[in-house]
Order: sequence, then structure tokens, then C-alpha cells
Amino acid sequence: MKVSGACHCGKIQIEAVLIEGKVFACHCTDCQTFAGGPFRVMVQSNGSDFEIVGEASEYVKTSAESGNPRIQGFCGTCGSSLYACDLERSLINIRAACLEDSSTFSPKIHMFGSSSPSWLDKMNESDWLEKGLGSQKMLRE
Ligand SMILES: [Zn+2]
Ligand SMILES: [Zn+2]
Repeated sequence: MKVSGACHCGKIQIEAVLIEGKVFACHCTDCQTFAGGPFRVMVQSNGSDFEIVGEASEYVKTSAESGNPRIQGFCGTCGSSLYACDLERSLINIRAACLEDSSTFSPKIHMFGSSSPSWLDKMNESDWLEKGLGSQKMLRE
């Protein structure tokens, strides 16, 4: 499946061919910090099927939880998190939220559940609004 996407400001575009069936949610503390939320959803592509237009900023960090050094790619202007990969760039984890139609990527595997906050299980017990504060309540199914 071919996908495309961009960072929030549009300076960096991504084109990739995804590996079928590889949709994960990662709840590790690194992903939480990058996302500013409880988890990130990622899809996978081989390095040879991954193309970036524009200059992504990168930094390498040895993950606290997996112990592996990882390249973290993001936009240096708007800060959008775009991808992570091994140092050889053989397998790319693309942040699903920066892709078009990102809501269609439904993770079947949730990793690092041990650092996931317990309130995530109770999200449907909270009040859900269709838009921002003051907007209509909605039912979540
Ligand atoms: Zn940007
Ligand atoms: Zn993670």
C-alpha cells in the first residue's frame, strides 16, 4: 500500500510503500514524551520504500526501554514527529498521524503496555464532544 503524508507545516513530505499488516501502537515512555500523549501509532516500511522530500531533522537516542539506538526524524520547524528507524535505516517506523487518512490505521498490537496509563481503558466513560469545548456531546461506540 502506497501512502503519503506531511508534517504539520508542510515543509517535509513523506512517500512510502507500507508493509502489509504492520500497524502498531507504542506506549513506551519515549513515545509518550514525543507525542505529548499516551501513545503513538506507527506503520512500517522498508528503508528502500521510504522517501522524504525536504530536510528532516534527526537525532539519535538510545531508547530507555528497548536499549537500542534509534534515529528519530521530525520537522525542525513545526516539530512534528515523522519516523524512527535503526541506524542502518533498514526498517522505518512511520508515525501514522502524519499520513493521509491516518484514522484508517487501526493498531492490532499495542507495545509497552506496562507504561500505558490506566485511564486509557476508561476513555468511553468520559464525556466526548464532537468538536472543541462547548460543542455538542457525542456517543462513542
Ligand atoms: Zn513541519
Ligand atoms: Zn515507543
